[in-house]
Amino acid sequence: FTTDRIRNFSVIAHIDHGKSTLADRLLEMTGTISKRSSNKQVLDKLEVERERGITVKAQTASMIYEHKGTRYLLNLIDTPGHVDFSYEVSRSLSACQGTLLLVDACQGIQAQTVANFFLAFSQDLTIIPVINKVASLYVVCAIDMVAADPERIARQMESAFDVDASEALKVSAKTGINVDQILPAVIERIPSPVGDREKPLRALLFDSWYDQYVGVVCLVAIKDGQLRKGDRIVSSHTENKYEAMEVGLMYPEQVPTGALYAGQVGYVVCSMKNAKEAHIGDTFYRLKHPVEPLPGFEPAKSMVFAGIYPVDADDFAQLEESIVKLTLNDASVNVQKETSLALGQGWRLGFLGTLHLDVFRQRLEQEYAASVIVTQPTVPFKVVMKDGKEVLIRTPADFPSPEHIPHHVSELQEPMVLATLIFPSEYLGPMMELCGTRRGEQQEYQYLDDHRVMIKYKLPLAEIVTDFYDELKSRSSGFASFDYEEIGYQESDLVKMDVLLNGKPVDALATVLHRSQIQVVGRDWAKRLKGVIQRQLFEVAIQTAVGSRVIARETVPAMRKNVTAKCYGGDVTRKMKLLNKQREGKKRMKRLGSVDLPQEAFLTLMNKG
Ligand code: GDP
Ligand code: MG
Repeated sequence: FTTDRIRNFSVIAHIDHGKSTLADRLLEMTGTISKRSSNKQVLDKLEVERERGITVKAQTASMIYEHKGTRYLLNLIDTPGHVDFSYEVSRSLSACQGTLLLVDACQGIQAQTVANFFLAFSQDLTIIPVINKVASLYVVCAIDMVAADPERIARQMESAFDVDASEALKVSAKTGINVDQILPAVIERIPSPVGDREKPLRALLFDSWYDQYVGVVCLVAIKDGQLRKGDRIVSSHTENKYEAMEVGLMYPEQVPTGALYAGQVGYVVCSMKNAKEAHIGDTFYRLKHPVEPLPGFEPAKSMVFAGIYPVDADDFAQLEESIVKLTLNDASVNVQKETSLALGQGWRLGFLGTLHLDVFRQRLEQEYAASVIVTQPTVPFKVVMKDGKEVLIRTPADFPSPEHIPHHVSELQEPMVLATLIFPSEYLGPMMELCGTRRGEQQEYQYLDDHRVMIKYKLPLAEIVTDFYDELKSRSSGFASFDYEEIGYQESDLVKMDVLLNGKPVDALATVLHRSQIQVVGRDWAKRLKGVIQRQLFEVAIQTAVGSRVIARETVPAMRKNVTAKCYGGDVTRKMKLLNKQREGKKRMKRLGSVDLPQEAFLTLMNKG
């Protein structure tokens, strides 16, 4: 396939608008996969993806399609929609010349539609608007779902993106209606990749994963030249040399082809020992034929940190192995060892967002049967010292105490984001109120059509990593969507709040707050902890404090009798039940000094209430 017969494109959309379903239809139409109902969302390969119905990892598949008598090689990249994974989207786009921007006909433009549109727009990609979940063009209102209104969606696209809505395709990925118009549009509207196969090799590394049989697999977009099996290649970034042991296309599984040519997107298995050597955005060239490296990517930035500890200290080594394996496939997780006085040895992991953290925890538990305690997530705070040094704080326990600050610290800063919210106009009041209580500052305000509003707010990242999303959904009956981009650090009046059990601070429960929140959160946390700490043989005092100043105190009274004393000897099954329940409760318990603290203690503090 010469470059004029190649098209590289991706599908981008808000979560649940049907990207993966559309990808399935296209793979079926081209005979790349067979038409079987069991073949649902074939590109969602991870268990978490199937279970949650979301795409976490971008996936690539090649197809061969005949259009007007000519055969074309089409490379499709299915991307995740969720804000945490926009990093995946932007690097996938660098391997494409165009994209299908999919919008659900019932839901209309949502926050990630806007975010993804601008990612594609800023990379100069040709954008084909596609309205999905439409049953038929010709019969009024015979849409495949009741509330679908493709004309209104088309108008929204015109006002938000300045695209010509008459160019929008109206399809149903589920039933297949009009899906046959997509690939012809891809071929006719999206330019073919530029590249010269006679020039020296220039290959962009844009994704990689670890395969337990063959080792590291790299996805590459060949910008110039050719890459053959057996070629010796060099990484511009590390100058490491490798041998290309196998090259081929994702069709949709790895199919060796012996060579990849300029314009193609495919995989290469090279003698790479460690997945960490695969730097996303790197350029490969042929040994002795160095080239100017392609513009790379900024490394993914950790926005949220959390401590992960084994419930049972004996599982430390096993958990370490699992974390290493999982991060082989997800280089965006930042890993550091950490020791907590309360929880022992563990790790401080950095994630792209809270969904990313949640998916990681779930994969640890599901794929590696790990039993872990996850501490409350925190954003990275910045401390500017009087001597000019800047320290990034990833663990609240490390945040300077109030006594320390006046002597050594000149400024405290927290990360800020610019958030985009889109919702039906009747929710304007509740949405503005929500952002207001989260220390937000309104920046922009726009009607997308008669009923839909888009607002932009500057918000502290710390305010949205807890339960902002849940609150947004509940206050808008599920209709609001939200996306954000980071916009750097800003000075802030921050303080560390400690939690003390029987007078001893528990480092793993410390948190950093804005001064205006201490009273409310301090009281609330003490109450919540009281609710989850079971009675022990002695009284437990729970205190929240800033420095030596106590904010709130609650007491869990001592247990008076054994729990089984209530069953007057007779009812054995009831007794067994209670004993089992007690044992069950022990499973996820950490003994802190003398107090047993359940995992729920950490979970309960994640919501601000
Ligand atoms: P993604 O998050 O964008 O990848 O979305 P999915 O492909 O996972 O689809 C989300 C949901 O929308 C699934 O339940 C699909 O079955 C459903 N869906 C996708 N396309 C259509 C369509 O054309 N009509 C209807 N009614 N549902 C669809
Ligand atoms: Mg998907």
